[in-house]
Amino acid sequence: MATSTDQSAVAPAAAAPVPVAIPVRKVMPWAVLGSLLMCLAYYFVGAEQGATSVVNGMGVHEYVHDARHLLGFPCH
Ligand SMILES: [Zn+2]
Repeated sequence: MATSTDQSAVAPAAAAPVPVAIPVRKVMPWAVLGSLLMCLAYYFVGAEQGATSVVNGMGVHEYVHDARHLLGFPCH
């Protein structure tokens, strides 16, 4: 007689999970691209309009102004 703690009477044993292979050769270009875009965004939010300013004017500063304050960069 099966009791409530007898698991073999409830359901058959599930198959062991098979790990999914992640092909590094396919993922690496996207990881590099994402890293470059994140570095570019970090530069424009954190350093643009400073001593290393690339774009003249205040357009970039005003565009990323809220992000600058949100991330705690010194601004004004
Ligand atoms: Zn500000």
